[in-house]
Amino acid sequence: MATRYILTKEEPTLYKKSRPVKKFDERLHQLLDDMAETLQESGGVGLAAPQVGVLRRAVLVIETNVPEGEEEKLIELINPEIVSASGEQRGAEGCLSFPDEYGIVTRPMEVTVRAQDRFGDSFTVTGTGLTARCFCHEIDHLDGVVFTTLCERMLTQEELEKGQAEE
Ligand code: ZN
Repeated sequence: MATRYILTKEEPTLYKKSRPVKKFDERLHQLLDDMAETLQESGGVGLAAPQVGVLRRAVLVIETNVPEGEEEKLIELINPEIVSASGEQRGAEGCLSFPDEYGIVTRPMEVTVRAQDRFGDSFTVTGTGLTARCFCHEIDHLDGVVFTTLCERMLTQEELEKGQAEE
């Protein structure tokens, strides 16, 4: 495994649409393993392939809503589609490609995603709260959509210093 460079907001690749993954081969596994290492090192909760410069429909999300004592779970979503969404949450959101920028984004409270795993097998997974927010945020990346275009407003420096980005 190796960490990969995370593209920042100036890079045009971030705004391009990613293509479906068709080959579930060693190369995909290498990408996913590298993305996992990159994500772990970054301290974030999600990462999309275009953020490491690969325009393929693959994302990672860390499921943080786990029972106490259990480890957080890394979810690999290949060719993900949101199949249902309900409820609403409004809160601060950030992105590894936009260091130190946070904005208020409204997202569904619960989201169900249909995707393939690294071997091409289909499954569905439901996330709530932060995980639902993360599913939406990462899947948006696959369509070249970044969170700053969805923000009702960005947080000010003062709010950031007060720690409101921790919401
Ligand atoms: Zn992001």
